[in-house]
Amino acid sequence: MSTATDPTVPVRAHSRAELSRGTHDLLVIGGGILGTAVAWTAAQTGLRVAMVDAGDFAGATSSASSKLVHGGLRYLQTGNLKLVAENHRERRTLARDVAPHLVRPLSFLVPVYKDGPHGSAKLGAGVFLYSALSAFGDGMGKVIGPEHALELVPALRQEGLRRAAVYGDHQMNDSRVAVTTVRAAVEAGAVVLNHAEVVGLRKDAGGRVTGAELRDRLDGAEFGVNARVVLNATGPWVDHLRRMEDPTAEPSIRLSKGVHLVLRQQQPWRAALTIPIDKYRVSFAIPWEEHLLLGTTDEAYEGDPGKVSPTEADIAQILDEAGSAVDPAQLRREDITYAFAGLRVLPGGAGATSEAKRETVVTEGRGGMLSVAGGKWTTYRHIGRTVLDKLAKAGVVALEEDMATPLRRVALPGSANPEAVAHRLLGEATAEDGVDPVVARHLASHYGNLAYDLAALVRTDRELGERIHPDGPDIWAQVAYARDHEWAMTVDDVLRRRTTVTIRGLDTPEVRSRVESLLAAGPN
Ligand SMILES: Cc1cc2nc3c(=O)[nH]c(=O)nc-3n(C[C@H](O)[C@H](O)[C@H](O)COP(=O)(O)OP(=O)(O)OC[C@H]3O[C@@H](n4cnc5c(N)ncnc54)[C@H](O)[C@@H]3O)c2cc1C
Repeated sequence: MSTATDPTVPVRAHSRAELSRGTHDLLVIGGGILGTAVAWTAAQTGLRVAMVDAGDFAGATSSASSKLVHGGLRYLQTGNLKLVAENHRERRTLARDVAPHLVRPLSFLVPVYKDGPHGSAKLGAGVFLYSALSAFGDGMGKVIGPEHALELVPALRQEGLRRAAVYGDHQMNDSRVAVTTVRAAVEAGAVVLNHAEVVGLRKDAGGRVTGAELRDRLDGAEFGVNARVVLNATGPWVDHLRRMEDPTAEPSIRLSKGVHLVLRQQQPWRAALTIPIDKYRVSFAIPWEEHLLLGTTDEAYEGDPGKVSPTEADIAQILDEAGSAVDPAQLRREDITYAFAGLRVLPGGAGATSEAKRETVVTEGRGGMLSVAGGKWTTYRHIGRTVLDKLAKAGVVALEEDMATPLRRVALPGSANPEAVAHRLLGEATAEDGVDPVVARHLASHYGNLAYDLAALVRTDRELGERIHPDGPDIWAQVAYARDHEWAMTVDDVLRRRTTVTIRGLDTPEVRSRVESLLAAGPN
């Protein structure tokens, strides 16, 4: 297997030097999807932008979501129709114009059981309104009978099933969308570095934040970044950074833990399930990456954000709640391939976390640092624009004068119809270097037309075309590509977030050790 590299991603020492050179217009601390969205938009305006993350890009909340690009059916209950309509618009823009290769349509059923919390008339009206708010762009929300529901979801629990309400949304692989957005930010001119932790803030004599002190978590190197404006986009750590700015800063947020399970799926489903648990809460059972994604929980969390993880009780709760709508024979513990936990950032306040608004929390600190956290994955571009707007007008530094208007709809790298890409990958294959249809579809729907670069790698080294594990569609070329073009530095960066190996439960010791060797052979 080849170890030669052709890096378009600069080696870390070069990135560190570039980060330390001169003064950036904007330093974004935190490379989750919110920080990345701001960095991407800001770079498009011509600003000199730096973005750093203590771990991997999207290594925290942004790879622990329910993977939904959605209008938010639950917001109908709070009467926030404007928000649902805005979310729908953004959802459809992402799927049609920005990331058609990564964001896929999916139908959702809300089953109505004899003793369930909602009746079919109410749910029918709800899904109709929901679809109307997206101008029926995904068809009309409606109610169907049990037989039709079973055709769509063969594992649906039949006992007591009355009807099911149907609506349309989209889904994605969140970590792949995030990494592709980091790439878009870099293509727009941003300098980025993962595994680089902000350990302190630089301030001028007047106490204004003018940059950050960093420590490279991989080799311990220390360096600094100067910036006219600093954005704190550290998600669950947002108050930790605010206290670096002002040790007396009051908490601005509270956290709620959400756990998901991934299970091997016994038969394919043509739709997902939204399972009402009580008046406010729903749980999801979603076909995702040829597996079943179940969750999520919603429980106040006060521990160290870096230590959040699924517990036995979380797993039991998720299986139990899924069991109210899924045949328990399809929910066997031995079929769990992966479990993960993330933290919702909610505005501070009292009351149940499940009833709290999913708002973006924006605060400006004493030292002029803007902090942003919370909100939805779905509206990340919108949040990016809004936060940049606030930064531009924040006052102390007149960024606005140096900014051109960003284009409204820039497609993510690789943007293409994934079916066209898969078709061409298969069409090009000769008997000698034949591409397996499963692999071709997988590459097309996770890389778009960048899959041609992976195919080119395979042509130079046939071994790179082999599957990482015989039971999954990921191939070794993805590892080399992740290392050379997608900032993957650790085995988990590759197996958990650039490929789907870990979530499928296929990251065996042999696989991990071979990935480690490939990473060590790289230029970083
Ligand atoms: C369980 C769950 C399910 C969800 N499902 C959905 C969904 O289906 N659809 C949807 O639209 N939204 C969903 N969301 C919301 C969405 O996932 C979040 O709004 C989004 O991911 C938040 O991104 P972020 O960038 O603010 O935070 P994060 O992704 O957590 O990023 C913060 C980053 O800051 C970095 N950081 C922290 N401290 C430092 C430091 N000192 N120096 C440098 N970097 C640092 C961290 O390493 C981290 O990568 C869900 C959220 C949860 C919790």
